[in-house]
Amino acid sequence: MDIELSSEDLTFIKEVRAFFEENKIKKDEDYFTWRNNWFEKAKKKGGWDVPKWPAKFGGPGWTPTQHYIWEQETTKATIPFDIPFGLGMLAPILMGYGNEEQQERFLPPIRERTVNWCQGYSEPGAGSDLANLKTKAVLSEDGTYYTVNGSKMWTTLAHVADWIFCLTRTDDSGIKQKGITFLLFPMKQEGIEVKPIITLGGAHTVNTVHFTDVKVPVENRIGEEGKGWTYAKGLLEHERTGLAGLSRSLFELENLKDLARTVTRGNSNLMNDSGYKAKIAELEIDLMATEYTELRSLASASAGAELGPESSILKLKGTEIKQRIQKLTVEASGIYSPAWGEKSIGFPFAKGGTTGYLNSRYFTIYGGASEVQKDVIAKKVLGLTKRSSK
Ligand SMILES: Cc1cc2nc3c(=O)[nH]c(=O)nc-3n(C[C@H](O)[C@H](O)[C@H](O)COP(=O)(O)OP(=O)(O)OC[C@H]3O[C@@H](n4cnc5c(N)ncnc54)[C@H](O)[C@@H]3O)c2cc1C
Repeated sequence: MDIELSSEDLTFIKEVRAFFEENKIKKDEDYFTWRNNWFEKAKKKGGWDVPKWPAKFGGPGWTPTQHYIWEQETTKATIPFDIPFGLGMLAPILMGYGNEEQQERFLPPIRERTVNWCQGYSEPGAGSDLANLKTKAVLSEDGTYYTVNGSKMWTTLAHVADWIFCLTRTDDSGIKQKGITFLLFPMKQEGIEVKPIITLGGAHTVNTVHFTDVKVPVENRIGEEGKGWTYAKGLLEHERTGLAGLSRSLFELENLKDLARTVTRGNSNLMNDSGYKAKIAELEIDLMATEYTELRSLASASAGAELGPESSILKLKGTEIKQRIQKLTVEASGIYSPAWGEKSIGFPFAKGGTTGYLNSRYFTIYGGASEVQKDVIAKKVLGLTKRSSK
């Protein structure tokens, strides 16, 4: 594994930092004007507005190391928000399995951030066992459209989404993984009802979505009917890697240490409390070890390997690390942590810390629960097989 930065990489770091510095939001600047201009300028840099897209589709065509540098630098810079569903999840599917017409129709608005997407995978009876999904799509007799009926669950940002990419069942005669069809359709139409789910931290980000006789033209189907599972699986690997968020955790861990230094403990501060310090050290070691796994996977990607089951290791460890950071933030706010109503009491970070902790409970559930990642690692990384019952 070669993880030494080359002189080109060091030049790239400088270039990225200069870009972020030049394009910081100015005092009193309108956020959305700044956001649009930022992406426009990033596009002119040579596809920096779509860093993960391949050069063929207008992306920068960076090396894996450049991607890693970009991830690291974005955590320290002020950059505009982005929603991952269109840009990071559907776009690779369109590029890999969509036809030319679909690519021309859907990719430009994703890139311009004018159309928001949501992901319709999970259902009340299909989460970890996703292939169990029941939302039905029936092809019309003339073969021009599908009629969709059923429900999706935990659909993030469905209430603000313009379109959904949705897994539907078109055949239930064979094994569950067969007969799944990948459809795209607008959210703002008759027959679609979105209901909020309020999560533990009090936020509304997820929803249930109900479909009643929703008509979807056949040209909105990705690939072949019944082959949706193949396309869906590819997307999950991209999703899992994205959820590990190691660069962000590195940044947040440093932040946490700074917070802990503001908390008085005896004659000193919390960072000098041996118990707390040991937990931080343990976390730091795990984070470093996981980062090396990420670097190893970058090194093999540089050598041309496909993204594989190591995305499960990164998802598993990365999300646990994020939860531990949140837990230690709550520990730092101590007795002030339960008072997380309107504003913080005691420490400025107390309220945000508790909300973050409660919200972080789902990190080890979405994108595939930790137990499921462990199954993938056991089978595909360690090569373990099920023990026979005899
Ligand atoms: C905040 C949030 C946002 C989400 N956003 C989206 C979204 O935008 N779109 C979307 O489609 N889905 C979304 N999801 C759904 C998410 O992918 C599922 O919650 C997840 O796959 C787990 O499925 P489940 O909730 O049905 O739990 P279940 O599958 O019922 O699992 C329940 C428990 O059983 C355990 N378990 C299940 N199977 C096994 C096994 N084989 N071995 C050992 N233990 C097992 C699990 O680990 C878990 O602890 C979101 C979920 C959350 C919490």
